[in-house]
Amino acid sequence: MAKYWQEDMETMSPEDMKKLQSERLVKQVHHVYENVPYYRDLMDKKGVKPEDIRSVDDLHKLPFLSKADLREAYPFGLLAKPLSDCVRIHSTSGTTGKRVVAFYTQHDVDLWEDCCARAITAAGGNEDDVCQIAYGYGLFTGGMGLHGGSHKAGCLTLPMSSGNTERQIQFMRDLGATILCCTPSYAAYIGETLHDMGLTPDDIKLKAGIFGAEPWTEEMRRSIEKSLGIKAYDIFGLTEISGPGVAFECEEQSGMHINEDHFIPEIIDPETGEVLPEGSVGELVFTSITKEAFPLLRYRTRDLCVLSRKKCSCGRTLIKMAKPMGRSDDMMIIRGVNVFPSQIETVLIEQGYSPNYLIEVDRKNNTDTLDISVEMNPDQFSDKMKDVQDKEKALAGAIKTMLGINPKVHLVSPKSIARSEGKAVRVIDRRKLHD
Ligand code: AMP
Ligand code: ZN
Repeated sequence: MAKYWQEDMETMSPEDMKKLQSERLVKQVHHVYENVPYYRDLMDKKGVKPEDIRSVDDLHKLPFLSKADLREAYPFGLLAKPLSDCVRIHSTSGTTGKRVVAFYTQHDVDLWEDCCARAITAAGGNEDDVCQIAYGYGLFTGGMGLHGGSHKAGCLTLPMSSGNTERQIQFMRDLGATILCCTPSYAAYIGETLHDMGLTPDDIKLKAGIFGAEPWTEEMRRSIEKSLGIKAYDIFGLTEISGPGVAFECEEQSGMHINEDHFIPEIIDPETGEVLPEGSVGELVFTSITKEAFPLLRYRTRDLCVLSRKKCSCGRTLIKMAKPMGRSDDMMIIRGVNVFPSQIETVLIEQGYSPNYLIEVDRKNNTDTLDISVEMNPDQFSDKMKDVQDKEKALAGAIKTMLGINPKVHLVSPKSIARSEGKAVRVIDRRKLHD
């Protein structure tokens, strides 16, 4: 059984990989300079010519691109191929501001699907598997990306899209799905629904899940693995760079291998833009070296994480990125303290609560307020006021130990917080609405 989808690329020596990246980068910079006036202007302003980029070591000389550039150049300003050569458009999920769009030639779609096939193969998928795609289909890259990867890997593909959860489970059972692809929050919901239908993991054939498109914690991973009886693999990507499959997890489950033959990663200081050494936490930046239609150079993702070249037991030599801690713009500053939603999720699940929660931040009388509503599991449910108050106090104490600030915790009854079928919205910051 094949362990890798493209063994030559996935296990290439770092020296050869650097050579390959350098060759591709040089070509790509010329392609962009000649075909994308928007980026040519940025290079000219910085005084960089395509000839100045001779290897990966020169990457830092190129200007960055940010979401603001994509909005300014919307919709066609960063296109490097005639529209007649493009076959597909996708769009970001756009939780903040105007959505941006990305274009693909057939060649771009093929390479992207290979990246997803690598992820499916790493999760043990092959032609004997039934792969249920429960990411949303449409402009969002999740559904179409994993769908294409599943086809390539030869799996029997079940294009469910998201939603209609009981039917997901019915098909999963009737058709013997072995791999589930969806967001982690939807996987948790599917696990909960399985239980509510009076079923257990023994009633389904699932063995693996490929979950991504939103941040999720190790605690959430364990909870999903238990509820569905599977091994859960992380997958990372973003529309601007292609979609899911920019990086994928292997059986070691300790960070995601970046498909470096297509995307060169860098970690930078988000304040100064300076490139940081391996092992530092910073903002992830990608340079796309094989895409034709929408080849972004030094795109700032706003995702915060760490890269590592530590040897991986799976045999892949591709560099690994740790689970992103969230986007730099997910970070909330509450009473002067930096807070990531993932820190709160860790405490909630550790303390035995469900992954169904809502964080609300506001400002009252010039002071930031932090309210966290958490569902009790049916076995934690109590109608005695005192019991609930004691539990709320204990949980608030545990969160204070983690964050250093005191939240107000509200334990709410089971099933009272809306479930997510795609990317979960777990934070409402009303301070932004006031501005
Ligand atoms: P979109 O292109 O709209 O689907 O959003 C891409 C963004 O989703 C990334 O920049 C990340 O912030 C987030 N994301 C995708 N996959 C993951 C993952 N596995 N873990 C954490 N965040 C993720
Ligand atoms: Zn590995």
